[in-house]
Amino acid sequence: IGKMANSKFEYVRNFESEDRLLPNCWIIVRIDGKNFHKYSSKHNFTKPNDARALNLMNRSAFCVMKEYKDIVLSYGESDEYSFVLRKETELHNRRGTKLLTHITSLFSSSYVFHWRDYFHDQSMLYPPYFDGRIVLYPSDNNLRDYLSWRQVDTHINNLYNTTFWNLVQKGNLTNREAQERLSGTFSSDKNEILFSEFGINYNNEPIMFRKGTILLRKKIKNPHRDKLHQVVLPIFEDMMHDEFWIQHPEILSNIPNEGYNLGEGDVHE
Ligand code: ATP
Ligand code: ATP
Ligand code: MG
Ligand code: MG
Ligand code: MG
Ligand code: MG
Repeated sequence: IGKMANSKFEYVRNFESEDRLLPNCWIIVRIDGKNFHKYSSKHNFTKPNDARALNLMNRSAFCVMKEYKDIVLSYGESDEYSFVLRKETELHNRRGTKLLTHITSLFSSSYVFHWRDYFHDQSMLYPPYFDGRIVLYPSDNNLRDYLSWRQVDTHINNLYNTTFWNLVQKGNLTNREAQERLSGTFSSDKNEILFSEFGINYNNEPIMFRKGTILLRKKIKNPHRDKLHQVVLPIFEDMMHDEFWIQHPEILSNIPNEGYNLGEGDVHE
């Protein structure tokens, strides 16, 4: 209490370790809901895709991006979100634990804070929490492949889940029977089951379910002012194609946008 500087206890601080992340690398922070299989069922999420839950995830990611201007892109699906920090960020002096714990806890608290806006008559029964990890990617191609990997995962899972839940909900199979029916099937088989048995063209399913949500910073013209201003927009596009990166060149360019607050937050550690 009071002045701790130079006390005989202060040596314990030296046990803390350095965790400055490698320079010149893209920093990915990925969070994922803990045991959301159970959380979704206890809170009556619609299967396979509860739009309220996805929109709440997007809203929470938006809160994180509002606070962390060095996040250039975020990508979310199911109970996970990936945040991409620009290579040159000096946020929190690139300290991994600071970045990871701040982003994970801000995401979690935003999820709880905004729950009622999405789940009007469904009360929150117990607090959700999220794990978080950091991955560094040294090249732009690694970053692109990472995002393609997550988005392909969304596609594979969603095609499976959509077919599975149709077999259960409309086809009256038990969970086990549906699982057996789908084991060893290819994408084409699942598309065929959906079309021939349930009249569903998979490509007409909601795009947010099929592709996940990309949050991007875009400059738009404010009709009331001359200046361009930055907003965070949800978009639903394919990141595995070159076209995406040509359409959105600002993601990979290392020129900071006007909206980036360089160094904000890393002064007082
Ligand atoms: P872990 O703690 O290891 O992450 P988990 O149960 O969260 O375990 P995940 O692989 O992360 O496992 O899968 C998340 C699960 O949460 C999905 O399989 C799905 O059952 C459920 N889920 C997440 N988001 C939604 C949603 N929007 N609508 C319906 N179900 C969802
Ligand atoms: P940082 O993000 O670097 O931790 P900080 O503003 O949280 O910045 P701390 O050194 O953690 O700085 O100090 C926490 C501050 O929060 C205290 O200085 C005090 O002003 C305030 N605070 C925390 N708990 C209480 C409390 N129970 N009653 C009144 N003020 C409090
Ligand atoms: Mg997991
Ligand atoms: Mg999970
Ligand atoms: Mg998950
Ligand atoms: Mg503090």
